[in-house]
Amino acid sequence: MKALQLMAHGCPGTFAWHDVPTPSPGPEDVLVQIEACGLNHLDLWMESNNLPIQPQLPRTPGCEPSGTIRAVGSTVQQWKPGDRVSIQSNFSCGTCPACVRGEDSMCLHARILGVELDGGFSECIVVPARQLVALPAGLSTVHAAALSLAASTAMHMLTDRIQVAPGQSVLVMAGASGVGSAAIQIARELGCRVCSTGSTPEKRQLAQSLGAELALDPADPLWPRQVRQWTHKRGVDVIIEHIGGKVIQQALDCLARGGSLVTCGATAGREIQLNLWSLFVKQQRLIGSYSRNRRDLIQTLQWAGEGRLKPVIDRVMDMSEGPAAYQRLRNRSALGKIVLTPP
Ligand SMILES: [Zn+2]
Repeated sequence: MKALQLMAHGCPGTFAWHDVPTPSPGPEDVLVQIEACGLNHLDLWMESNNLPIQPQLPRTPGCEPSGTIRAVGSTVQQWKPGDRVSIQSNFSCGTCPACVRGEDSMCLHARILGVELDGGFSECIVVPARQLVALPAGLSTVHAAALSLAASTAMHMLTDRIQVAPGQSVLVMAGASGVGSAAIQIARELGCRVCSTGSTPEKRQLAQSLGAELALDPADPLWPRQVRQWTHKRGVDVIIEHIGGKVIQQALDCLARGGSLVTCGATAGREIQLNLWSLFVKQQRLIGSYSRNRRDLIQTLQWAGEGRLKPVIDRVMDMSEGPAAYQRLRNRSALGKIVLTPP
């Protein structure tokens, strides 16, 4: 089989689309023929070696695959060849206390697909059967690959790390991104009012088409004031944030007393300055969110199957064009998700 492999770190990194041995499933594994895999910021960090873990190279990246089962291991009962599936990219252990209580995003022994294990930019993959989630009828593998990581991250933030309530106001940072475009839709489905940000007119228009009442330019230093005006000076109840850097302090300027800022990703910087006086006087919460639990992914795909959550796809590209896809995500020209498919 062929796979897109990262041969050397860099910005850009060195990739090869070439033959690798086809893996065979162990007793508890399945062999999935990959039909699509989303491209994510995690892949950019992997490419440039900007992760706190040291992956071994060559490595097949890709953390958002979906496809069709071709073979199952000897003890696998619940799946059969022909089943269409998405793969949960956080490979949790399944046995630690966090996993047992359904909080697999808290697993201490988890490994990341496409970073610590060969991932989805490949024609086939072997994964433990318990990493699979069935695709609802009518949801294509390309659409699943545009939602299963980014949208389930947003689902985890809005329904697990906090539980947003109808009538609440939610600020979604970078509403045209994978996490942002899903967060706008999920918050709206849950009865919230939403405002958002976007760095270009096209991105702001997209955020509004998804349901944001207001979409602001983060380059305008007055944008936090406009959010406060939108809430009649009260501030928003919830902020969904995945940018980090100096944006955090601006976002906190928009947060109501008693409000919560939920953050993941930190794509623009992991070190921030924080005014603790303002945080404790306003009794605000700063909440970290990482990955997703299995139930978040199931709910995300279910909502997508019901048409309540739509993928925003920038373009579908051939896996052999991987370096060009990475470049497009890196220079922030993508409007929505980039999905890679095998030739
Ligand atoms: Zn575990």
